[in-house]
Amino acid sequence: MQSQILNLLLDLQSEFNLTYIFISHNLAVVEHMATRVAVMYLGRIVEEAEANEFFSNPMHPYSKALLKSILMPQPGLGIPETDLGAAYPNPIEPPPGCTFHPRCPAVIEKCRAVPPRPTLIGRAKVECHLYENVTPMRMSMIKRSGSWTHTHPAGVSR
Ligand code: SF4
Repeated sequence: MQSQILNLLLDLQSEFNLTYIFISHNLAVVEHMATRVAVMYLGRIVEEAEANEFFSNPMHPYSKALLKSILMPQPGLGIPETDLGAAYPNPIEPPPGCTFHPRCPAVIEKCRAVPPRPTLIGRAKVECHLYENVTPMRMSMIKRSGSWTHTHPAGVSR
């Protein structure tokens, strides 16, 4: 039933040249529906990118954790480890600096005090200190190296 409704939405979009803002926690559905993706954390958009780019190379640590948290259909794989810890923030009194820092597996000292600004990288945008000085050339080298998820993009060690 869900897939029929989603496909109907896509048909209507193409027939009437519509634009949708589609909000979901189901990343498989987002991948099926979206041409551009925005990820929100505590009320802020922390990453925005073309859908194919986002799903192949998520940048923000929260986006990476979201994609790691997708349950696979194979029995026995268990619950995915997201490295996010259990420090849930209070949205009424958010943490200082980057509001994601108490849960971030890539946190650096600056994150605890200074809120990150949006950084444009090609057609994508990310709010994270790790990407502030990354040139497009370095970004494409990181992508080509195939070690995207293991290489710290700014070369910063924790
Ligand atoms: S700014 Fe720091 S704490 Fe926030 S997502 Fe980036 S690395 Fe993590």
